[in-house]
Amino acid sequence: MTTNILSGKIISTQLRQTIKQQVQKNVEQGFRPPGLAVVLVGDNPASEIYVRNKHKACNEVGILSKTFDLPATTSQVELLKLLDKLNADKEIDGILVQLPLPDHIDSDLVIERIVPDKDVDGFHPYNVGRLVLRMPLLRSCTPKGIMTMLEQTGIDLVGLDAVIIGQSNIVGRPMALELLMARCTITVCHSKTRNLKEKVKNADIVVVAIGQAEFITGDWIKKGAIVIDVGMNRLENGKLVGDVEFATASKHASWITPVPGGVGPMTIASLLENTWLAFQKHI
Ligand code: NAP
Repeated sequence: MTTNILSGKIISTQLRQTIKQQVQKNVEQGFRPPGLAVVLVGDNPASEIYVRNKHKACNEVGILSKTFDLPATTSQVELLKLLDKLNADKEIDGILVQLPLPDHIDSDLVIERIVPDKDVDGFHPYNVGRLVLRMPLLRSCTPKGIMTMLEQTGIDLVGLDAVIIGQSNIVGRPMALELLMARCTITVCHSKTRNLKEKVKNADIVVVAIGQAEFITGDWIKKGAIVIDVGMNRLENGKLVGDVEFATASKHASWITPVPGGVGPMTIASLLENTWLAFQKHI
């Protein structure tokens, strides 16, 4: 059986190119560029890398990105005040607060403070609610990026059995809603799920987002299944691997995402798409 690599690197490059052209055309017509505010609190090294990558991606497509680098001692009140200012800023279309936040700050409160039409991460209860009701606007970036990848396979998703492992607010849950909207039959699994292997073995689509290096091996995967690996785990030797053991799983899958170069670049491309979408609603 042939295994196809579902390359987020390639798909996201095409997406970025399209956004770049749209932004360029708009600026030539005299409009301001879209604006994204990225707020980082504290000095989490992984967060710093993510923020840097997002800033770079914005620059490349002509989105004006402003980074607000705040010390770990920033109080919740100070952060909320900044968000109020950004909410009112006419040049800012999207606001992103990089998670995780320091323990003394309530992330839920912070996410809810962002006005929903600038919530380009798609985490605000309003935007999640719209997804629940099948009226999506700003969709969570990682699941949105995965749906874009699945569209690229050309496979009809209707009626397929999808197993999502992980039930986080930012990946597992919105992913389940996306696949349900695509008319898959969904099973959402988590750390208390019984007979996980059995469930995965019956799945036509497996989305894994648990954060455990190479947890799912090839013998779990049904022949011909589509495997989406969201996990990003740094091994002691510095190598970045997913939650799926790529070498064995790729022997069974019809399509599989690599790590790196799979879901990661699609998450950033979806953020650019959301910022462009938010901009269009603001002008
Ligand atoms: P999270 O909030 O830590 O959630 C992990 C989920 O996995 C939880 O629902 C947990 O179950 C479940 N889980 C943990 N161990 C399990 C097991 N042995 N069997 C079944 N379920 C298990 O993680 P997250 O934020 O969703 O991220 C997951 C992974 O994706 C991480 O590696 C993260 O770095 C990566 N990620 C990548 C991108 C990207 O763009 N590529 C974006 C976001 C996240 P319980 O709910 O029962 O605890």
